[in-house]
Amino acid sequence: MMALESRKDLDKAFWRLSKYIESNIIHYVENCISCGICYEICPAFHIDKRYAPAPIGEWFRRFYRRYMNPIARALGKLAHAYPLTRENLLKAREYAYRCTNCAACYMVCAAGIDSGTLALMCKALIDSAGLTPQAVKVLEELEATRKYITPKVEELYAKFQEELKKYVPEVSVGERDRTAYIPVSIVDLVFGKDALISTIRVLEKIGITWTLPREPVGIRPPMGYVTGNFAEFASLVRRIYLEAKELNAKMILVVDCGYTYPALRFEGPYIAEIEQPCKIMSVVELFEDYAERGLLPVREGHDAAIWHDPCMLMRRGGVEMPHALLERIATPLKPKWKGRYVRCCGGGSHMFFLHEEVAKALSEVLEIDLVRMLDSFSREIAEFSLKMAEHRVEELLTKMPRVIVTACHSCVFMLRKALEKVSTVRIDVKHVSELVAKQLM
Ligand code: SF4
Ligand code: SF4
Repeated sequence: MMALESRKDLDKAFWRLSKYIESNIIHYVENCISCGICYEICPAFHIDKRYAPAPIGEWFRRFYRRYMNPIARALGKLAHAYPLTRENLLKAREYAYRCTNCAACYMVCAAGIDSGTLALMCKALIDSAGLTPQAVKVLEELEATRKYITPKVEELYAKFQEELKKYVPEVSVGERDRTAYIPVSIVDLVFGKDALISTIRVLEKIGITWTLPREPVGIRPPMGYVTGNFAEFASLVRRIYLEAKELNAKMILVVDCGYTYPALRFEGPYIAEIEQPCKIMSVVELFEDYAERGLLPVREGHDAAIWHDPCMLMRRGGVEMPHALLERIATPLKPKWKGRYVRCCGGGSHMFFLHEEVAKALSEVLEIDLVRMLDSFSREIAEFSLKMAEHRVEELLTKMPRVIVTACHSCVFMLRKALEKVSTVRIDVKHVSELVAKQLM
């Protein structure tokens, strides 16, 4: 991990980032009227009143004014313009790393201000000073350099394919002209193996041909979406697009709907400056489409199920709760809040990677010691994110579900961890594909 030492280097970091400061970012910087409407919905604000969207976004505004507004630059702190110094960036980190980039504030702000995106821009500057939490930075670097393909990862991928053979007649890897290309990641293999196998079983049943990448496409690509390293972001998007194109796939099917989905579907072509090779779909969209058209061969399910919207799927991806699908496979409960107004489970962005269990599980396959890299700041943020999860779980439990259904591996992890802490009743948390596979006829 390279730390840029001098002020001059940090100034350069701002100018490098300025390439990504488009009109939407300028709008987020310039037009907040500090009305406070976004505070109530922010999961961070619920845990600590200092960390609301406007003050989280304000740190990027302070740096922006220093470099982009000559009058504010001359007035300095009087005009809330701050230079990029290590000291200021450490203060900014306290705020930016409490944001899960859930976009809830964006949904309720009448001025359309996205404080989560401002936090991400701030993280890009924090990264330039070498202040990204080490465990997350190392994952990003391993992903960028492909050094995550360790012998243990190869073994894990081979074992996954062996296990898959129990359910499907033939495992397709790197084959051309299949309909769905599934960009399997390390996080998919370690935390979402059952969801992956279930997805493939359903594809077989509905007659959609599929293929897997020749090797896992990343740790949870693009890790640059978490650290604000847009160059890494671009290279990972390119890597996935190019393999899908080479294989002539008709769709890239995303099983883990963390930030991978909006990154590939929306931001990817712009950041990576490359055309999308084919349609990008989440399993939620695909299976909901089949359920709506009556083409999903499933038995009726009766478990009382409540849907938890992953932020990146709903608010940053526009994919809503799959009503028709849930009606078929369970007895869906009516959530108190739906879609854009659902609170984040605390697992968004970098949060997931700072939990000791996650670091431990990834360390085993990546053959590095991520747990040792979790410093006191990282552990404090993990604690903070767990409180967000507990808050979310308490909301869900008011509906007395038998199962919480979602479509993101970090949501599954966070909700399970919080349930262990706050609930004495046994409640399952499942990826939606697992529920569909269980009900297949
Ligand atoms: S971001 Fe929007 S809702 Fe929040 S304080 Fe600013 S103007 Fe108000
Ligand atoms: S993106 Fe989410 S966590 Fe971040 S400031 Fe907005 S509401 Fe809060």
